[in-house]
Amino acid sequence: MGIRENIEMVQHRIAAAAVRAGRDPKSVMLIAVSKTKPVSMIQEALSAGQEVFGENRVQELCEKYEVLPDAQWHLIGHLQTNKVKAVVGKAALIHSVDSAALADEIEKRAAAMDVVQRILVQVNVSGEESKFGISPEALPGLCEHISALSHVKLEGLMTISVKGMAPSGNRAVFGRLRQLSEEIAALKLPNVTMQELSMGMTHDFEEAVEAGATMLRIGTAIFGARSYQE
Ligand SMILES: *Cc1c(COP(=O)(O)O)cnc(C)c1O
Repeated sequence: MGIRENIEMVQHRIAAAAVRAGRDPKSVMLIAVSKTKPVSMIQEALSAGQEVFGENRVQELCEKYEVLPDAQWHLIGHLQTNKVKAVVGKAALIHSVDSAALADEIEKRAAAMDVVQRILVQVNVSGEESKFGISPEALPGLCEHISALSHVKLEGLMTISVKGMAPSGNRAVFGRLRQLSEEIAALKLPNVTMQELSMGMTHDFEEAVEAGATMLRIGTAIFGARSYQE
């Protein structure tokens, strides 16, 4: 199947899951994860109407941004402090902020460029399996810290579920992220909204929609398996 057909099939499954959950399918944004995939495939997706793409490495995002600046680029992978400068202003949304030091660096670079960088905080809900993401216990403190930064806009939370987990396990992870976002929203922090929940990938996006995801990060189901090391 071609990329256009894959996108249509994924959109169809998203809509069906949304309807099952009593949600408007339009409230769920599909981010096509194009890491390791060539620009020609991204152009094919663009011509099928897909305009939002996710990359997990700063250098790859910047290279593709140069070629296709009109697409919307999201950074979904781990971000090191020394790479912040390159990506601020290019990424429409950074999904992976997980420390005060990283948020401070984004603030510094965004202020220098006179832009406001939209971000999500990545939470490590599933425990030991993932190296990245802040713990649920430390989340309120980090959100309070970010609330005071004038060039960083916190718009929600992101999590990565564990591959190979049963659907019930994924549901527990997604339900927990949603609960955490409601707890943060209840703090009514200035300059912080909890409108976005970035969760769900190829293997579990329907469960994510049912649990309230507003952004899905889907690679394999659109572009096929990745053939080299991520
Ligand atoms: C690669 C990646 C995805 C997409 O994974 P698929 O299983 O190919 O859909 C989603 N989120 C993050 C953070 C990724 O690195």
